[in-house]
Amino acid sequence: MFFFVGVFPRERELAVASLRCDHCHEEAAQHVVESGSRLWVFFVPLFTFARRYVMVCANCGWTTEVSREFATRLERAATQERPPR
Ligand SMILES: [Zn+2]
Repeated sequence: MFFFVGVFPRERELAVASLRCDHCHEEAAQHVVESGSRLWVFFVPLFTFARRYVMVCANCGWTTEVSREFATRLERAATQERPPR
């Protein structure tokens, strides 16, 4: 019996916020990204684990790890700002 099992990295951009960077001290777009590992079985994605949330500065590329609460708060604010389709 064969099982096709794989774990692949997964990245998803949650929001883009204009905030002051801790590294370059410029107010620039900060990309909030959720990264983790996703388990695939028979080419079907089952679940994502080992999630972490990072904020990447568009000006200097500095990456800062942020809390899940902070990332989801920025995601919620970004989705509320988008105009309805
Ligand atoms: Zn920066």
